[in-house]
Amino acid sequence: MPATDLSKSPVIVWFRRDLRVADNPALTEAVARGGPIIPLYLLEEDAPRPLGGAARWWLHYALKSLCRELSQLGGQLVLRRGRAVDVIPRLAEESGAGAVLWNRRYDPSEAAVDAAVASALAIRQIEVRDFNGSLLFDPDTIRNRQGQPFQIFTPFWRFCLSLGEPPRPLPRPLALSAHPPLRSEALADWPLQPRFPDWSAGLCATWTPGEDAATARLSDFVDEGLARYTQRRDLPDQDGTSRLSPHLAFGEISPRQVWHAACAAGALPAEGYLRELGWRDFCHHTLYHFPTLPEEPLRKEFQDFPWAANDAHWNAFIAGRTGYPIVDAGMRALWETGWLHNRLRMIVASFLVKDLLIPWQRGQEWFRDTLVDADVASNAGGWQWVAGCGIESAPYFRIFNPVIQGEKYDPRGRYVRRWVPELARLPDLYIHQPWVAPPEILAGAGIALGRDYPPPIIDHAVARRRALLAYERIRGAA
Ligand SMILES: Cc1cc2nc3c(=O)[nH]c(=O)nc-3n(C[C@H](O)[C@H](O)[C@H](O)COP(=O)(O)OP(=O)(O)OC[C@H]3O[C@@H](n4cnc5c(N)ncnc54)[C@H](O)[C@@H]3O)c2cc1C
Repeated sequence: MPATDLSKSPVIVWFRRDLRVADNPALTEAVARGGPIIPLYLLEEDAPRPLGGAARWWLHYALKSLCRELSQLGGQLVLRRGRAVDVIPRLAEESGAGAVLWNRRYDPSEAAVDAAVASALAIRQIEVRDFNGSLLFDPDTIRNRQGQPFQIFTPFWRFCLSLGEPPRPLPRPLALSAHPPLRSEALADWPLQPRFPDWSAGLCATWTPGEDAATARLSDFVDEGLARYTQRRDLPDQDGTSRLSPHLAFGEISPRQVWHAACAAGALPAEGYLRELGWRDFCHHTLYHFPTLPEEPLRKEFQDFPWAANDAHWNAFIAGRTGYPIVDAGMRALWETGWLHNRLRMIVASFLVKDLLIPWQRGQEWFRDTLVDADVASNAGGWQWVAGCGIESAPYFRIFNPVIQGEKYDPRGRYVRRWVPELARLPDLYIHQPWVAPPEILAGAGIALGRDYPPPIIDHAVARRRALLAYERIRGAA
């Protein structure tokens, strides 16, 4: 255990979306300095982008895990609540800290908070240092030949890969030099867990938040899933993807750890998987350069898109009662587990934006509240991509047919049968379009349409024509 050098001033390590001790550059730097360390987590009451319900549930357990990890190293996580610009300088004064270290947040609205905290500390002559702990590549280092940010994924990723591997992960510290105990709030008193009602049973049954669980999930995936990732990543009824997204979103594991673990398994199986990590970086880089990504379409002509808000359609969508089995299965899985397979995210988003003509921002907000991996950059990037209004996105006129998507990616209907059990006895032929099944087949499967399961709330062929007409109206403005 390294000796604490008490002649050195204490250092505050401000944890945010980096709730881990391994490969944590700010923590590693604090340990290297040799003085007492004050690990801090601040519940920011004026956070520019507050967490949704499912992410708050996750945060509770992630903090519990971080407390445990830090105490094993001899440290104590200090929990405080308030405005960062008030709490952090106050804690620095209270503890005699000479420096505050953190890993950067690249969302410009959060970076503005960090800049205000840095100024408040500078006035008090307290040092601030920040690090990249959340992305493979720092957005400031990735520019095209004209010095501009990349707006298309493929050249972006090619450029990233040309830089060589991201740095190897930093080892877990052996021990922390503890600071004498400071006042800390109790995690149980924070409003993170749902109480009245407690809707978290499905989340508890599905997930184990925390750094240990993230590490275990990564090694299981590398051992058992990675080699078949490309073949299985689009099949929602299989455990074909890593399911690391909430762990990555809370920084319980870093993308560099994931990168190097995947590469150790061999270049070929890793290639397609690394590309998905590349999409994560790309979304974060896009938000960094285009701060209004979560609010405004990047293609300006979409500002005048003739949306058709319809509350009955919206309510059917979020309840998983649209009458399209694959859409309903996805929305019910999301509600129950706080997570949705990427293929399903695309299918349900396309249905909302193109079949129902409901604005993508409303879907994004629902995802923000219900996903355990809700992440501002990937969520906004995903919705703009599906809606066709991002710079690099699926063309608007490419409209998913929910029946064909179901037949292609859930050919035996296993995913639908799991999440829409009232259809479980329908033969495969009709599982994605029960409304075309003959009456005797429906009766044999115990289904009366309209009673046990709704007929489609909209005819896809009609909806498709309506969407294309709406698109024609803004195309002239492009
Ligand atoms: C409408 C929509 C909204 C989305 N919202 C979010 C969100 O809030 N948070 C989130 O983390 N992802 C979001 N995604 C991206 C993607 O669906 C999830 O990251 C992925 O499903 C997570 O599953 P996994 O960890 O098994 O992924 P894997 O296939 O195992 O991929 C590994 C990692 O790469 C990253 N990744 C994979 N695909 C993407 C992608 N298309 N965009 C960005 N990163 C990606 C994730 O961090 C993921 O954990 C969204 C996609 C869409 C279409």
